Amino acid sequence: MASNTIRVGNVEIVSLSDGLLEFDLCNFFPSISQEQWQPYESHLTEEHHVRFNLASFLIRSDGKNILVDTGLGPKPTYAPEVPWGQLMHDFAANGVRPEEIDMVVMTHLHRDHVGWNLMMQGEKYVPTFPNARYWMSAIDWEACHQPAVRDRFPNAPTCVWPLAELGLIEFMHGEHAITSTLTAVPTPGHTPGHVSILITSQGERALVLGDAAHNPAQLEQTDWVSRADMDPEVTRQTRRHLVERLEREQIVVAAGHFPAPGFGKVVRLQGRRSWQVL
Ligand SMILES: [Zn+2]
Repeated sequence: MASNTIRVGNVEIVSLSDGLLEFDLCNFFPSISQEQWQPYESHLTEEHHVRFNLASFLIRSDGKNILVDTGLGPKPTYAPEVPWGQLMHDFAANGVRPEEIDMVVMTHLHRDHVGWNLMMQGEKYVPTFPNARYWMSAIDWEACHQPAVRDRFPNAPTCVWPLAELGLIEFMHGEHAITSTLTAVPTPGHTPGHVSILITSQGERALVLGDAAHNPAQLEQTDWVSRADMDPEVTRQTRRHLVERLEREQIVVAAGHFPAPGFGKVVRLQGRRSWQVL
């Protein structure tokens, strides 16, 4: 497997994982037929399922440790066999301690990006990363409280809302400078406040994609939306513009749901846009 660490100027990005999720195609991409998938079979499992890595990216920059997204969270006691819930093991395997995290940044508030934010200690919620503050889009914060779409954010009441009572939230509004090297760039559609994280250092750039794409096939088929994309048309527009930019400017991409470690570039091979693993 490719290295789980890359450098972008003075910044180091480490790809960590909470494990995997797997779905039937007809379940996750209900509007895309089996035939349409044929040219992209290499991006499916042998059983023709879509399999998603659950990456968290640890960004070491300016003496700070910044964690982007926090996976699905601890394994449920009723289902200890699930193939996720691994993030703390991966922290240990990479010699990282939760106390070292200074900032947690969420690309959006869906359940597989906020799962390890908090732990229960007795009756109380405590931050899993005790020295961190938590950055999230103000628009997604609003959305996860709206009755009409609240079911799209099923673990927000336990993994996001208590952060407010703990006084740990930093809201991001529009294009938002998080640090001197990290900028949140609005990439809405998947959720209304979805952001990707642009890293710029010494003239080099990388983008933590978030869920602006779930599978490498969508780099060419930018119109393929999944059931998880809350606004299909905005998702398509965002993805089209973003992927064009990533190809044109040859920005390194950290794609959290692509096969681990998820580092690559958008390139054109024989006229077709495709994913080139770093
Ligand atoms: Zn996701």
